[in-house]
Amino acid sequence: MNLSLINAASLINNLHAGVVVHAADTAVLFANPAALKMLRLTETQMIGKDALDPHWHFLDSYRSIMPYEAFPVNRVIATGQPVSNLEVGITDSSSKRVTWVLCNAYPEYDEQQHLSHIVVTFIDTTRSKRNIPFQDVVELASDLVLVLDAKDDIAGGPKIIYANQALTRITGYQKAEVYGQPHTMFDGIDTDPNSRADIAAAMQNRVAVQAQLLNYTKLGEPLWFDLNIVPLCNDVGDVVYFAAIEKDITTLKSKEAQLRELATRDPLTKLLNRRGFTAVAREALKLAERQKSAVTCGMVDIDFFKKINDQYGHEVGDLALSHFASIMRSCFRSSDIISRVGGEEFCILLTECSQADALQLLEYFRVQLAATPLVMHDQQRISITTSIGVSSNDGKHRALLELMKTADQALYQAKSNGRNRTELFSSTKAEEAG
Ligand code: GH3
Ligand code: MG
Ligand code: MG
Repeated sequence: MNLSLINAASLINNLHAGVVVHAADTAVLFANPAALKMLRLTETQMIGKDALDPHWHFLDSYRSIMPYEAFPVNRVIATGQPVSNLEVGITDSSSKRVTWVLCNAYPEYDEQQHLSHIVVTFIDTTRSKRNIPFQDVVELASDLVLVLDAKDDIAGGPKIIYANQALTRITGYQKAEVYGQPHTMFDGIDTDPNSRADIAAAMQNRVAVQAQLLNYTKLGEPLWFDLNIVPLCNDVGDVVYFAAIEKDITTLKSKEAQLRELATRDPLTKLLNRRGFTAVAREALKLAERQKSAVTCGMVDIDFFKKINDQYGHEVGDLALSHFASIMRSCFRSSDIISRVGGEEFCILLTECSQADALQLLEYFRVQLAATPLVMHDQQRISITTSIGVSSNDGKHRALLELMKTADQALYQAKSNGRNRTELFSSTKAEEAG
């Protein structure tokens, strides 16, 4: 087609793009109607015959006022080079709204190769431009943000195509090391396979998922993430990306573990406390009942412990308790549940052995304890003995509290029968006594 058939003036006046032509000294020679509208100027203001609104400004992408030398036309004059896709905001006192335009400018030269004029064109991008720089918000966020390509599945799941700068601070990896890798790259030996499978299933089904997952840093340090993965769709509703927002909760997790430990363990002897014992022993009792196997409970109370405190002081009393606990640990099997349920009262639940074997183990402990005095710094020896009450389930259903109560009755018997001995609870004896 012969382009001269098109009326150039009409074309430019009807364009939705703004067109401004400047002389080499920046004076405006021409502006089309779209340019006047976007620049918020009248024709007389445009060609310098009327004063500009003093609040009329160009802004850069970060909404800072653009200095005169950064205007597109001045950049072209300064460098002789075109300017392409420069984002410029236009404001004045008439409204708080900023008109955003994407600007291109190029120089034109006369036959002597002198700059004759500069053509500036621009299109309105206000609608697509978000005034809040979300990309920067994401990049600077303190939580780890990853974007995965939902269309590019490799073994282990979609590939990472973006990570914000929190990546290096939290994981020690550089961006280049994670791009192209699946999300599973942070997994390690103790990552829960069930949580990982849930995450994989959610991504396959294109739905959001929340999980707490144990990952690892580049140096192999454990790293707990509370992560949210959400699918992101294109205009026709296809999931094209997943955004993963991952909060580092490692410190929180270790504090939780410390609190759990404090709630279930005695700090002096490191044995389970009553609460910890009750929880663990109930489970063991349930299992033994299912297996119809014997369970034996031993209640253990140190003999004349008040005397140790009175004679040597409370600190030595504490040492004696630690000494007592370490002998306990050395005498019983790892499957036996040993605990400090009170001041100098201990409880042991023995499973996976007959009542006779349990009695033998408890007796062994009692004898070992009596034979192993606490040796003080000054080589002074303090002998410690204990009385033990024993009760078994006889293969029948017994609640833990009932076992403990009956073992306690047998312990009372052991104390009244002279201490440093083991007594077995018998219901007939208890009836006679009762
Ligand atoms: P018995 O043979 O009848 O059991 O005599 P006992 O002196 O051991 O009497 P009892 O069991 O009533 O005494 C418990 C004492 O244990 C009282 C308390 O001062 C002491 N005790 C309890 N907890 C602690 C502790 O954590 N540290 C120390 N040093 N002493 C404790
Ligand atoms: Mg006591
Ligand atoms: Mg005692």
